[in-house]
Amino acid sequence: MEFINSIKAFEQAKKSIPGGVNSPVRSFNSVGSNPVFIKKAFGSHIEDIDGNDYIDYVGSWGPMILGHAHPDVIKAVQDTAINGTSYGAPTEIETEMAELIKSMMPSVEVVRMVNSGTEATMSALRLARGYTGRRFIIKFEGCYHGHGDSFLINAGSGALTMGVPNSPGVTEGTANDTLLAKFNDLESVKSLFKKYGDQIAGLIIEPVTGNMGVVVPTRDFIQGVRDVCTQYGALLIFDEVMTGFRLAKGGAQEILGITPDITTMGKIIGGGLPVGAYGGKREIMEKVAPAGPVYQAGTLSGNPLAMAAGLTTLKLLNDTPDFYNILEAKAEKLVSGLQKAIDELEFPAVINRIGSMFTLFFTDDDKVESFEDVKRCNTELFAKFFDKSLQAGIYLAPSQFEAGFMSIAHTEADIDKTIEASRKAIEELKAEL
Ligand SMILES: *Cc1c(COP(=O)(O)O)cnc(C)c1O
Repeated sequence: MEFINSIKAFEQAKKSIPGGVNSPVRSFNSVGSNPVFIKKAFGSHIEDIDGNDYIDYVGSWGPMILGHAHPDVIKAVQDTAINGTSYGAPTEIETEMAELIKSMMPSVEVVRMVNSGTEATMSALRLARGYTGRRFIIKFEGCYHGHGDSFLINAGSGALTMGVPNSPGVTEGTANDTLLAKFNDLESVKSLFKKYGDQIAGLIIEPVTGNMGVVVPTRDFIQGVRDVCTQYGALLIFDEVMTGFRLAKGGAQEILGITPDITTMGKIIGGGLPVGAYGGKREIMEKVAPAGPVYQAGTLSGNPLAMAAGLTTLKLLNDTPDFYNILEAKAEKLVSGLQKAIDELEFPAVINRIGSMFTLFFTDDDKVESFEDVKRCNTELFAKFFDKSLQAGIYLAPSQFEAGFMSIAHTEADIDKTIEASRKAIEELKAEL
């Protein structure tokens, strides 16, 4: 494979865009190579500007659950655009969107649309503080909630990959208002509540993590988190920007059987356009302006193009019989193929999977259940695996600390090819160990 055009495009981009990219994870920094520039995508495949074709497991970092350029989604966007792209005034499709979200995710009684996951979490945080009149927020090491100041404290995703756990520009005051707990360690949560309980506004968590790679909560941990929030009157915020409408119609909360007070959403609900949302109990959400005093606004919030793409996507997820079972079966097929290769070749790796999200961790451990476990992974080995996969036409997230995403558009042939390429890569890496 040649990457001549991508290399040139990256050089050009770096002159006018910080680091040549508009979001850090795209830079391939953590795998020490040059990002591929994309020309187009369809279904499960994505093509770069050198004409290389890849099977895509990034899916724009989660939104493309239907595959790229789904004809119904594209048609909805085209039909809508003809009538104008934004009015800054209410439209009926916004209500339709709100009603569908509520029906799929019953903990959401009232929902506000915004333009990104970051905006959703920042707004949810302000609401939790406004509602409770309290100061502190608890977050978990390795969890990522967008780039809001309060969350850039031991964050996951790009912040973890890039080694900037505490970004310059975040004031000490803001950092001091964020308390850190450990994922899958209930004692770490309880001890914070014991110390600061009556000053804790809320606890935000990725109920299943994707941004340090896929880590699934234990039953006792996630139920314990719910209980301790209730006990101290703090709001439980599930950040389902990644897991919402991905793991089930009703997100991770449906699978885990836990009802949060507020849920943040994004990615899939925009169908590939920029969207976020936050919603929850009526009593809490009615504190948001103009119903209540907690201010939050957006010029382009709920804009018709994003609503058309998002609503079309959600309707397909909601109306297609067996959608999530079919999707999960594809991911299960891929992961069992990879697991077989790992076992047969006695390769040091662990695969975590839930539904259509998975991560292949390069580690000597036999399980990955915490941020500590994640941090012990061999990122050099991952970088080599990533490079071999890319060369074989498999497009993975360019970091050890991310989830892979299956889409409904991935075919049996795609999956077989991926297993074969991965086995070959693992074989070569094993020989180098
Ligand atoms: C992607 C993500 C965000 C941030 O969403 P943006 O749209 O990138 O701002 C927040 N939380 C989680 C769990 C995410 O996966």
